[in-house]
Order: sequence, then structure tokens, then C-alpha cells
Amino acid sequence: MTVQRLLIIGGVAGGASAAARARRLSEKAEIIVFERGPFVSFANCGLPYHVGGEIPARDDLLLQTPASLKARFNLDVRVENEVLAIDRAARKVRVRDLSNGREYEESYDALILAPGAAPLRPPIPGIDRQGHFVVRNIPDVDAIQTWLRPGVAERAVVVGGGYIGLEMAEQLRRRQLHVTVVEALPQVMAPLDPEMAAWLHLELQANGVDLRLNDPVAAFEPPREGENARASVVVLRSGARLPADVVILGLGVKPETALARSAGLEIGPKGGIRVNEHLQTSDPVIYAVGDAIEVRDWVTGAPALIPLAGPANRQGRLAADHIFGLPARYDGTLGTAVLRLFRLTAGCTGANEKSLKQAGMPHQALHLHPGSHAGYYPGAQPLAMKILFDPVNGRLLGAQVVGVDGVDKRLDVLATALKARLTVDDLAELELAYAPPFGSAKDPVNLAGMAAQNVRRGLVSLAQWSEVLQFNPAETFLLDVRSPEECARGMIPGAVNIPLPQLRRRLGELPQDRPIIVHCQSGQRSYFACRLLMQNGFKVRNLTGSYRTWDAAMRGGAART
Ligand code: FAD
Repeated sequence: MTVQRLLIIGGVAGGASAAARARRLSEKAEIIVFERGPFVSFANCGLPYHVGGEIPARDDLLLQTPASLKARFNLDVRVENEVLAIDRAARKVRVRDLSNGREYEESYDALILAPGAAPLRPPIPGIDRQGHFVVRNIPDVDAIQTWLRPGVAERAVVVGGGYIGLEMAEQLRRRQLHVTVVEALPQVMAPLDPEMAAWLHLELQANGVDLRLNDPVAAFEPPREGENARASVVVLRSGARLPADVVILGLGVKPETALARSAGLEIGPKGGIRVNEHLQTSDPVIYAVGDAIEVRDWVTGAPALIPLAGPANRQGRLAADHIFGLPARYDGTLGTAVLRLFRLTAGCTGANEKSLKQAGMPHQALHLHPGSHAGYYPGAQPLAMKILFDPVNGRLLGAQVVGVDGVDKRLDVLATALKARLTVDDLAELELAYAPPFGSAKDPVNLAGMAAQNVRRGLVSLAQWSEVLQFNPAETFLLDVRSPEECARGMIPGAVNIPLPQLRRRLGELPQDRPIIVHCQSGQRSYFACRLLMQNGFKVRNLTGSYRTWDAAMRGGAART
């Protein structure tokens, strides 16, 4: 098709990327971008940091203006212009100019839908009260900033422990507010498995955030006599009443599909706009990108909604490529995501244990706690890493990393490995940048691969943290090979301590009739112990992640999930 008129609905991540790419591919096409809001191409990912003052200047969030896009790319960007309807037969859209109410039509040869996803507002009684805010765009944060004038807000309740809720909690603490995070699930950050999210629970608590898990909001009520709340009293299912001067609603998002639905475009089983591998909807001259579409989960192949900026930007570019005749295929989303929470960084890529179970895919989970860089160089911090791999062919299926330093670099290597369909053997062989301030001669990613290789080669079998929450000592012997000093700081109940250096001469103290689960602090010394014991005829498994994973899971509440 020759495209002379390209219309784009939505002018932020996906829409703006598509428009700029389209211009680079066609100097002749007329390109019109309709944006309902007052700003185009703004930094929505930066919004929480403006609320907290880390990005002090609001203008820094405004990456482009209609004038700058006109000057640089000759784009016709119409802010405060909402597309109301698509007439597919006539290839026209109906638009309302929100500044004056005027309605008009524009015709297209190709149309890209990039309308994003809207914050969820479930029908909880009182949800529309004053002082409640969602965080999607600049007007939202303007409203929050006005409401939070210095001195008029002391207590915030953030409803929802996803990444927007957590970023807002961190930033409101930065403004010295007392913050409560309320989450209906037993954990925050649902893409992480519970024992990994447990680190975030501990970090929230260490930073004075009151965390209410497993306790959904029942209602938002006006304050009763004696209660002081400028916004609402947030009432939880447990009956707890949380007076709030400001309420942030971070309850997730749903794809904006109203336009697509009313135009008769196909919607997928998850409720997003259905697209093919070229990002064409069920009408081949209409493309859709970003948070509004349903994608294929890269690992499980299942349809998924994965509202993230990276995929939206890349999809925008790809749709433009396909429209202007370049080869373009979008073959799935990994869901690589990263979050900073106070001192910690946490992130994930690919599948987690929950989604693998759901998809019925065989998998092995492995935890490790390597240093962020060489232990002898000052400042090394332990990472908590979890990888998931196919026990049969060794293919990496997913990874999660939490720590103070070096998390994002490991995540990005693992995300690249996933995209390249690498196996754990490949991870063991990756040649990664090393000098003492940055890593170790065996990088944490190499170590993960090597530890997984040991499992696949039958050198060791693994036990999981959840297996030792409640175990029967008559059936399983739990051996702790740490030093007595380490054990004095805390032990798994029921474990018997034989320090690794004494193990060879104390074999007689171990049972031959029961399986033994061995642990140390992070899993490395207990692996050595497993090798020693296996070669002496004992039936042993290594507790993967060992005491450190178990301890975080216990203290961080994962054991309750
Ligand atoms: P959007 O960027 O939301 O743009 C859609 C635009 O379409 C909207 O501006 C809307 O007004 C407009 N629109 C809708 N319907 C119409 C219509 N009928 N007519 C005209 N205009 C219309 N992702 C990350 O990967 N990392 C992060 O750190 C991160 N942080 C985030 C923090 C916040 C506070 C938020 C809100 C999001 C964050 N995201 C992050 C998610 C990321 O911003 C989105 O995935 C991305 O912006 C989606 O791009 P999109 O083009 O699909 O939609």
C-alpha cells in the first residue's frame, strides 16, 4: 500500500515513536498525531520522581512539544484532540477538539492506535472521593502536587503494591509523609515470586512504610469523629481504618480498547486489541501498539498484557516500518522490568514460577547469592538471584534479581540470554566484563549457569525454601554446615549444625535411612557438603539459596503465601 496519510491516535510512548520513525521513512506522507491530553511525548515513567522532588523541574518531563515535533519531523501534532470514532469503511476518524468542542473528520490510508491503558478504578465504595489520585499523566501529578502543598498532608495511603504504587510510596516517604501500602495479594510486585518479593517487604518496613498485605480495601469513608483525614479513611477487609490525607490508587491498568471495540476490531482473550506479528489489527490498514494490545508471552507463548515502555516504543517503530514497506515482526514480550525501592533494586525477565506452573511447563528453580563484585574489593553487596530453566534442554525460562548494586546489569544480560534462547550451559560460558570494582572473574550470571549445569549433570539435586517451612524430622534430616558463630545469629528450626570443616570426620552422626537436606548461608558450602556426602553414599539435596533465601522468605512474609 502507498501511504500518503498516516493518522496516529495517542501521542506518548508508542504513538510518538511511530510518528518519528514514519517521518524518517517517508518525507512525503502527511502524518497527524491526535493526543487527548494537553501534552505530547512526556516522560510518564518519570512522574513519581517529580512528585518526590528527585526531578524538581516539571519541564524536564516534557520531552517534546507540538512545535518541536513540527520543526524537527514536520509532524502535525494535535493535543487536546480526542478521536471519538473510526469509520473503517470510509477510512476516516471523527475527532473532537477539546479546546473548543468542534468536531471534524480526517481520512487515512493507514492508522496506528496507541491509546495506552487506563488506571483501574474498581467500584469500591467511596473511590471517587476528593484527595484520591491516579498517576498516569502530567495533569495527575499537577493535581497531586497542588493537594500536597507543604504542611497539609502527613499521611498517605498507597493502594496497590505494583511498581507505580511502590515508586510513589518511596517518593512520598522522601517527602517525609507517613506512608501505608495496602495490597490485596500476599505480596507486592506480582511478577516476582513470593520469596523474591519478600526482600521488598523487608525494605519497605526498614524505611518506615506500613505494609498491609492480603488485606484489600473494602471502602473509602469520610472520617468519623476523632479521626483526622483530609482525604478519606481507608477501610480494609480486616476492619483496619487508615486515615489518609492523600490516597494514591495504583491498582493496575486496563487497555484502552473502547475505540477499537466500537470500530469492530478484534479483541483478544485478555482484553487487549488483538494484533498479528506485524502489529496489524483485524483490519490490515489499522495497526495497534503499546499498552492497548495483547502480546505473546515470549516464554510461555500465552496471550498477555504487558504494559511497559520498552515494548511500546519498539512496537511504535515496528508498526511504522511495516507501513512503509520494511520487514518488521514483533515476536513477543519478555516483560523485563526493574524497580528501585529505597536502597534496593529489583527486577525480573521472562517467566516466573507462577506463570510456568500455570502454563504446565517443566522447570527447575535455582537461587544464589553471589556478591555484586569481587569480595575483596570494598563495597561488594550480596545479590539475591533466582533463575528458572528447563531441566530437560537447559533453556533459560526466567530470572529475578534483587540487591543493592549491580542488579540491572545482571538482569539485562539475562534478558538478552532469554531473547537469544540461551541455555544454562551458555550462561556458564558467557564472557562478561570483569575488573574488581564491577564484577567477579566468574560473574553472578556465570555462577547461575554453572550451578544449573551441576544440577543438570546430576552432580547435585535441589530442595526449595518452601520444603523446609514445615518438615518432619522423622522423615528428613536438615543439616546446617555453617560455622557455630553464623548459627548463633539464627537457624532454621530443627536443623542440626555440623560445620563443613568437621563434616568428613563426623559422617557417623548422619542418618543413612533418611534423605538429608543440606544448607549453609547462601548454598555454596552446602553444595561442597552435598558432593562430599553423595560420594559417601548419603541421599542428599542442597537447599537452593540456603539460609539467606529461607530467612528473607520467613521475615518478609513469603511463608504466608
Ligand atoms: P501511553 O504512553 O499511555 O500513551 C497513550 C496516549 O494516548 C495517552 O496520552 C492518551 O491520552 C492518548 N489517547 C488515548 N485515547 C485517545 C483518543 N481516543 N484520542 C486521542 N488520544 C488518546 N514502563 C516502564 O517500562 N518502566 C517504567 O519505569 C515505567 N514507569 C511508569 C510510571 C508511571 C507513573 C506510568 C503511568 C507508567 C510507567 N510505565 C513504565 C509504563 C509506560 O509508561 C507505558 O507502558 C507506556 O507509556 C505505554 O505507551 P503507550 O503509547 O501504549 O501509551
